[in-house]
Amino acid sequence: MEQFAASERAPETSAVDESVRPRTLEDFIGQDELRSNLRVYLGAARERGRALDHTLFYGNPGLGKTTLAQIMAAELGVNIICTSGPVLERSGDLAAILTNLGRHDLLFVDEIHRMPITVEEVLYPAMEDFKLDLVIGQGPAARTVKIDLEPFTLVGATTRMGLLSSPLRDRFGIVARLEYYAPEDLARVVRRTARILDVEITEDGALEIGRRARGTPRIANRLLRRVRDFALMHGSGKVTAAQAADAMERMDVDADGLDQMDRKLLEVLIRHYEGGPVGIKTLAVACAEEVRTIEDIYEPYLIQCGFLKRTPRGRMATAKAYRHMKMLG
Ligand code: ADP
Repeated sequence: MEQFAASERAPETSAVDESVRPRTLEDFIGQDELRSNLRVYLGAARERGRALDHTLFYGNPGLGKTTLAQIMAAELGVNIICTSGPVLERSGDLAAILTNLGRHDLLFVDEIHRMPITVEEVLYPAMEDFKLDLVIGQGPAARTVKIDLEPFTLVGATTRMGLLSSPLRDRFGIVARLEYYAPEDLARVVRRTARILDVEITEDGALEIGRRARGTPRIANRLLRRVRDFALMHGSGKVTAAQAADAMERMDVDADGLDQMDRKLLEVLIRHYEGGPVGIKTLAVACAEEVRTIEDIYEPYLIQCGFLKRTPRGRMATAKAYRHMKMLG
């Protein structure tokens, strides 16, 4: 039986992700307030002939941060250069990218909270004055040279706002949070993707997937592809609500969208630790999962749905979690 983990990132995913990625703000579903604000900022930047203010997106993985950055570049008619915090190991790596940027280009840095501090310090004058301070030579002969950069826009994305240093955070003119999507919005994402991938699906079928997709478009798209496979092999090829529900049960995705690891987390908490509080490290060891994966992927959704509570002494299962797991408190 195939298992479906929320943290899974199959290679197939990225190729299909690209083909179904919305290309315009018009096509980007949900996040209405953010979308209409961005439309204003983009219009104003174009009107004034200036680079758009540096922008920071934060929110859980798969909610559309990369997609929005690409849409912004397309709407402004500029190039986008994509990199990520952990890839920028030395300040020279970033300097090389910055000096190659064209006028008003957009530099997208994913997981910006994982950028080393030495690299981050190069970014400050670049963001503020479009200047680069390069140190040439070593010891007493060392000197600093200032290099002018083209005006550019930095778009940072992070899943962990709390891990961003405040000097960096303060240098973004636009800071926007991406929220989990409502099931109805995810159903629209599913219908749009189904059209692109040529999958027949009923309205109810799309909503059934939307309900179980943890508020996340990337997961909705991935579930659709797996449900389509089941419909193709076991049904008429058309995805109905019953078929979608059946396929997702087979993948171990339950009616609330919880997968095996979510349920394991709750079960460990309840069975082994009487519902908590338990420290995150202990929980990670007991579930054989990395602390970061639990913090970034599993925990936020469990908290959002009211299954888990974060307290100063550790994580606790809620009464709702006991009911969901059919365990007595
Ligand atoms: P993040 O950068 O936040 O991890 P991405 O921007 O890579 O997320 O989005 C993951 C996938 O989800 C994309 O391939 C895209 O197809 C889909 N997606 C994200 N947001 C939306 C949206 N608002 N409407 C339609 N599809 C979306």
